[in-house]
Amino acid sequence: MTFICSNPVRLLLAAISTTLFLPGCADRPDPGEPRPRVVILGFDGVEPTIVDQMFAEGSLPNLSRLRELGGYQRLQTTVPPQSPSAWSSFATCQSPGNHGVYDYIGRDRLTYSPVMGTGNTFPYDILPDGELRKKPYSVIFRKGEPFWVSADRQGARSKLLHIPFAYPPDDLTRGLMLCGAGVPEIGGFNTYFYSLSDSFTQAELAESVGGGVRIRLELTEGKAKVDSPGALDPYKPGQSESIKVPIEVAVDRQNRSISLTLQGKQVTVPEKEWSDWIEWTLPITDQISVRAISLFHVLEAGEHVRIYMSSLQFHPRDPYVRFTTPETYSGEVADRYGLYKTLGWAHDTSALRRNALDEDAFLEEAATHDEWVRKLLEDEMSAGNYELLVAVWTSTDRISHTFWRYRDPLHPLYTADGAARYGHVVEDSYQRMDRIVGEVLDRLSPRDLLFVLSDHGFHSFRKGFSVNTWLVRNGYLVIRDKPDASTAFVDDEDDMLRSVDWSQTRAYALGLGAIYLNIRGREGQGIVEPDAAPQLAEKIREELLAVTDPETGEKVLKSVFGREAFAGKSQVSAPDLQLGYAEGYQTSKTSAKGGIPAAVFEPNLDKWSGEHASSDPEETPGILFSNHPLIDNPAIVDLGVTALQFMNLDVPPEYQGKDLLSTKNGGMEGSTQ
Ligand SMILES: [Zn+2]
Repeated sequence: MTFICSNPVRLLLAAISTTLFLPGCADRPDPGEPRPRVVILGFDGVEPTIVDQMFAEGSLPNLSRLRELGGYQRLQTTVPPQSPSAWSSFATCQSPGNHGVYDYIGRDRLTYSPVMGTGNTFPYDILPDGELRKKPYSVIFRKGEPFWVSADRQGARSKLLHIPFAYPPDDLTRGLMLCGAGVPEIGGFNTYFYSLSDSFTQAELAESVGGGVRIRLELTEGKAKVDSPGALDPYKPGQSESIKVPIEVAVDRQNRSISLTLQGKQVTVPEKEWSDWIEWTLPITDQISVRAISLFHVLEAGEHVRIYMSSLQFHPRDPYVRFTTPETYSGEVADRYGLYKTLGWAHDTSALRRNALDEDAFLEEAATHDEWVRKLLEDEMSAGNYELLVAVWTSTDRISHTFWRYRDPLHPLYTADGAARYGHVVEDSYQRMDRIVGEVLDRLSPRDLLFVLSDHGFHSFRKGFSVNTWLVRNGYLVIRDKPDASTAFVDDEDDMLRSVDWSQTRAYALGLGAIYLNIRGREGQGIVEPDAAPQLAEKIREELLAVTDPETGEKVLKSVFGREAFAGKSQVSAPDLQLGYAEGYQTSKTSAKGGIPAAVFEPNLDKWSGEHASSDPEETPGILFSNHPLIDNPAIVDLGVTALQFMNLDVPPEYQGKDLLSTKNGGMEGSTQ
């Protein structure tokens, strides 16, 4: 037996389905026959142990059905088990050592500054006289050809919806692609919100607000004018400064609603409700403007006034940068359903973390967006005209990140009230997944191939480990003018390694789990001789594996990987060491962006309470379901290879995945025993 069959009923059902209904690999189409379809549904960050628990409760009927038809296994994720790395491996069928995407945060090895790890978008480049030098454009750092591009080259038609970290869209001769995670906002990257409030103190207004800004509302007789940041100012490159757009705000306390007037339009939004999409025209120069869309949500319209505005997103009918293939597809989708969310980071976790959006509004919005994607998928399936279809939802991941605090009694933010109210929201999102799977399964023939996957699992994030502070305490990193390693720290969480004395520093940390050595000839001010680097890395590795939590005595790290884990064409940019945390621990947020706080350990008091980014990969597998029996030990690099093989297409030689339906590894032989 080579796929998981844990009870006799399933065994029997698997035997029947393999014998009677399913083509399986022995029954693959001959070349020349019409190709059966491949449908892959992705749900970011679905944790297998929760799925198992829900199976035991009988609350995932459609996934149970799928498991009986084919199989259900843990899916091997990447090192590290992060979405950018894992979805890039899904796309390219290669390991991070080859595609080169290791983390959300990378580093500039010459300046030691944190940089985007996945890709970048460049704003308008305008000459001082106002002439346009270059329009905005986006680049992806991932190397390697996605399997859907290979399929397209060989004549297969694809529909690709919201595949994370596959932006900008690929050129396809006959398919369509709508990009998801990775599509930026206008005016920066990632989410952006702002709150207009008369309840914030000056200190709260000045506080660093990751992913957005707070703007104070100075109300006079219930009215105020504020300047909203618009698109990036092309005359101030590198400063991330925006051109301002005025908004007039009027509060109707009696009816508990807010009227907003911007660019000649007026919209009234009642308390606790959302506006329709608002269209903006953002001036860049006298000749150039950018179209954008955003939503408002009114949190309070009484004594205090709090308004949330979503980030300024690409207008689907006139996008800042193209995010679909063909280019006209983004507008066609708007013609079908009206304006829609185009930002890749679709769920505003930053706003929730900063109380600019409350829990219920966040969850309501997530459910609405999931339904929108479900409807799009349904319509694209009805329209047919494809051999390969991939659709991905990310709410399962974002809800887990922000609500894990209410499912782990050991989490510092756990409360019984919170657990009673929100302890089940992850399961709720899995039930939405189950309904989608059921609908898709009903539409497919047994000859088609259906995969349902998550890219990694999930863990609680109870304590942050400040890797840079640990490196200071152990003599590997030295702060300027602070010679006492037992007490040295930097009192600015946004220091970004600027206080480091590079002439005495041998190792530093940047990103969610990476450590780099300060190697001579590679880093800007390197001091570690390249020959000495492997021994130094091994010494740090052994010391890290011995680190225990002083409060509990627990080991903090399950695994620490050296560069050998990143063998491949892109190894040159890989971390020297990659951390694999035990349950409950992650790199502290401050250390991840290059800060060096006072404490090595800190309780995690952030709503971002579930994590997986640098968990031990062995302990963080995703899920894989299939309507065809699978061989053992599937990995995320295998799905694209299997899809190509199933469609009788050639597999590019650089792909590292294996065919999951293959008989060669004993996959089908004996699968019914
Ligand atoms: Zn995640």
